[in-house]
Order: sequence, then C-alpha cells, then structure tokens
Amino acid sequence: MDKIRIENLELYAYHGVFPEENEEGQLFVVSADIYVDTLQAAREDDLSRSVDYGAVCHFIKQWMDTHTVQLIETVADILARELLLAYPLIQKIVLEVKKPDAPIGLPFEYVSVTAERAWHTVYVGIGSNMGDRETYINDAVKLLHGQRDCNVAKASGLYTTAPYGYTDQPEFLNGALCVKTLQTPAQFLDTLHAIEQHLGRERKIHWGPRTIDLDILLYDDMVMSTETLTIPHIDMENRLFVLKPLDEIAGFVRHPILGKTIHQLYTQLESK
Ligand code: ATP
Ligand code: CA
Ligand code: CA
Repeated sequence: MDKIRIENLELYAYHGVFPEENEEGQLFVVSADIYVDTLQAAREDDLSRSVDYGAVCHFIKQWMDTHTVQLIETVADILARELLLAYPLIQKIVLEVKKPDAPIGLPFEYVSVTAERAWHTVYVGIGSNMGDRETYINDAVKLLHGQRDCNVAKASGLYTTAPYGYTDQPEFLNGALCVKTLQTPAQFLDTLHAIEQHLGRERKIHWGPRTIDLDILLYDDMVMSTETLTIPHIDMENRLFVLKPLDEIAGFVRHPILGKTIHQLYTQLESK
C-alpha cells in the first residue's frame, strides 16, 4: 500500500512520569508512516482524495498542546487511534514518539515507542431466540455501531432457523454483520460480551435460549486460538444459520484455514 511519511515533527509537551517533566515540559519528536491509497489523488491531482499531511501535523500539535499523560506509550497509542478516527482514508498508521531529553542521567540519542494501529474487518454472527428477537438484534447493532472505534459497514437480512445443539427451545433469528474496528480480537470479544450483558444475556445452558448471541466469525485473515477465543469461529463451516447470512455480505471472502470462499462453504453445506 502507498505511504505518506512524516519524519521528526518537533513538539514541546509535558508528558512524563516525573513532576518536573509535567511542569517544565520537554521536546518530543513524532514520526508517522501513514498508509493510504494515493492512486486516485495522484491521478486526479486532488488533495481531497488523499490525507493532508500538513493537517495531520497540526492535529498532532493540537493534541500535544491539550493533553498531558505519563507515558510515551500512551501518546503513541492515542495519537495513532485519533488519527485513524479523524482521517477515514488512513487504513493503517505506524507512529513513533521519541523523547530525546528523557531524564535518564546517561548519554543517549533518544528513547522512543512505536505503535502500529489499523482498521480491521470483522464478520460477526448475531442471533436471538428470546423475547422480541428483532429488537434485540437491532439494539445490538446500534450498540456496536455506537462504539467510537467500531462501524457496522454491512448487515445481512435476518433468517429464522431451528435451534442448533440444544433443540428444545424457540426458533432463532440469525444474521451476520461486517464491522470495521480498531479493536484487537480480545478487545472486540470484550465489547461483544458487554453488549450481550447489557441486553440481558444470561449463560445458563450451553447453546441454550438467549436474548442475544454475538460471535466473531472472521477477523481479517487471522488464525488464532486461546482459551477464550478461537478465530475463525470453530464451527462456522457446519452451521447453515451462520453461512447463509454471511454469504449475503461476504460470499467472496476466503476462510483462512479451509481455503474456500464463504459462498463455496455455504453451497457445499446446503447440498449435503
Ligand atoms: P458457540 O460458540 O458454539 O456458538 P455459544 O455462542 O452459545 O456457542 P457462548 O456461551 O456464547 O457459546 O460463548 C462461550 C465462549 O466462547 C465465550 O465466552 C468466548 O470466550 C468463547 N469464544 C471462543 N471463540 C469465540 C468466538 N470466535 N466468538 C465468540 N466467542 C468465542
Ligand atoms: Ca454462538
Ligand atoms: Ca457466543
């Protein structure tokens, strides 16, 4: 991908762990690799189709002028995220914050922290089989979209399906979402759990009735497995209620382990 680079932007600010740093301030030096597709802007010679690096520099200065935190880790994290939120054309940013005069008491050139942050594409399975199912689903979508660092980009239609696993319970309404997020998989799972809790989800029986169930189906082309999170979702290829709505919004997306597109997985399972 194309890249705009800002090298060694000098700023005076008050970040630091020591009170002297917060009172007297010191020099900070910021560099950024801004990943953005510049082809349209280049072909049309039109700044509005790219990211204005001058505006980005002033954005960084403005943030530095109005905030004081302890760690350059925090500076790098917040600045990277705020830039991704403020400039929608930025897809990824690698931001380095240097502190050349950190109070170490030994000769050195600088210390620095580099943070890499990006927009990720997540496909989410959504289901409900208690109470007003459609309202629960719509509320969950609103809550997710309302997160500052999550945007629901696409939503499938909703399908009525027979319960899976534990079958002695009402029918489900199921759908799928495409979400753009700055959150890591673990953060995103926490977000989904918080929304489930907010909407009155109780975990009594595994696969039992629920006001809302939100599952991470795919996260970019990531393959990961921890005690609490498996991506892609462990059983998605065997669930028509997942593949049918997902096919509607992501038929072209390839499952990173099985190597088949969602459309292939869907038609394959449906014809079984
Ligand atoms: P299933 O996971 O088979 O669809 P379920 O959705 O009914 O079953 P839950 O009680 O909602 O099961 O979730 C149990 C746990 O599964 C969660 O607490 C979470 O830690 C874990 N989990 C693992 N991978 C995922 C994933 N990709 N998306 C959501 N939860 C996951
Ligand atoms: Ca589930
Ligand atoms: Ca779940």
